[in-house]
Amino acid sequence: MINAFVSLGSNLGNKKENIEKAIKKIGSIKNAKIEEISSLIETKPHQAPGPNYLNGVIKIITNLSAENLLDCLKKIETELGRKRSFKNAPRTIDLDILLYGNKKIKTKKLIVPHPKLKIRDFFKKSLLEIEPNLKLV
Ligand code: ADP
Ligand code: MG
Repeated sequence: MINAFVSLGSNLGNKKENIEKAIKKIGSIKNAKIEEISSLIETKPHQAPGPNYLNGVIKIITNLSAENLLDCLKKIETELGRKRSFKNAPRTIDLDILLYGNKKIKTKKLIVPHPKLKIRDFFKKSLLEIEPNLKLV
């Protein structure tokens, strides 16, 4: 089993409800169990147009591979009405894998640790809220 951290972000529609629905769906993924849920934080879009985001991070424990986990998350994004119109477009829900154990992954589909982990303050803040002993280098 691996501990993974997933970020949730929404800046379209009922943001809080979108995040809550996503958490519920993630909780019902077979082979994944939610261990921790951070508080939700409002943030400004990063190099992008549109309304402010509501963001949070959850810790899950899973035996899914990182790639399979990503596929499950993308399916949930689609179910919650995510449209992929243009890069960084406003979205009902964005689910990203921040960390997958201490693995480093770099494929066409998936980069872990998440490339923006270091530059987006709320990622670190939310991660440390739910996992105070996490070593972020
Ligand atoms: P954003 O970069 O704003 O999250 P998208 O959600 O549209 O944009 O994701 C674009 C692509 O990024 C996805 O199709 C996915 O394959 C890829 N990707 C690479 N690394 C990750 C990661 N750690 N978590 C989620 N998606 C990732
Ligand atoms: Mg994404």
